[in-house]
Amino acid sequence: MIVDVHAHTPTHRDVVPAGEACVFTSWRTDRPVVTTNTWADFDGAMSAADVAIVFNIAVADPAATTGIPHDPDRTNDATAEFVANDPARRIGFMSVDPTSSDCLEEAERCREMGLVGVKLGPNYQNFDPLGEPALAFYAYCERNALPILFHQGASPIRTAPLRYTYPLVTDEVALRFPELRIVMAHMGHPWGKETVATIRKHPHVYADVSSIYLRPWVCYESLLAAVEWGCTDKLLLGSDFPIANTGEAMAGLRGVNRILEGTALPRVPSELIERIIHADALSALGLTLGGAR
Ligand SMILES: [Zn+2]
Repeated sequence: MIVDVHAHTPTHRDVVPAGEACVFTSWRTDRPVVTTNTWADFDGAMSAADVAIVFNIAVADPAATTGIPHDPDRTNDATAEFVANDPARRIGFMSVDPTSSDCLEEAERCREMGLVGVKLGPNYQNFDPLGEPALAFYAYCERNALPILFHQGASPIRTAPLRYTYPLVTDEVALRFPELRIVMAHMGHPWGKETVATIRKHPHVYADVSSIYLRPWVCYESLLAAVEWGCTDKLLLGSDFPIANTGEAMAGLRGVNRILEGTALPRVPSELIERIIHADALSALGLTLGGAR
């Protein structure tokens, strides 16, 4: 089974109204990225995945903060509705602001709606990932077996503090919450080695490979670090839809050694790449299909 652990909830149910399309031409060099997509667009793009984990990010102005617009009052409802439409192929994560007073109330409401994990982007949401409110929320997640997928690493958003997504911050989180399931997105790009140093020592900390293939050297360097440190079994497949889709992510990983032609540099073994593509992400994160645990 192929599980894509990192996809953003499509922005529109049936149709993207004329004039609402958001297109970014500078995000990747081979094609523009359309961040406004319908449910059908998602299914078409993500056909290579048997199951996808989907989420929004809880911010006041999603279009300005992440480039992916959604109604900020329906951050979690939009994801829950999308998942309920095809629960055999979709798993929904909530997103909350750990510093807001109704954070736990909203998390409880999301669990009732069938959302079984959490997406946080401390840099986008502008909260200190080691601050008291965040730590209190991680404790709640650990108690209730809710895995957290953290955005990690770079972001082009000028106001998003990089120190909040530096992979070694996640080591601090895992030291305090050893039973919490964590996914470090994008292998912390470009800090793949720091991510590898973190996932190898914490049994419940994983990393996803979403978007990294778009930067061939970072992808190679990060995957090779995982090989050399013996922790490729902690890597999970992800696409970061709509930045890329699952099929592109798989092809990108399989092409990781292409830049080595004519060199004596060590290769990333292809059987390890296949293992990442077929990683049992649901077991790793304690999830089952259909929202049940
Ligand atoms: Zn993402």
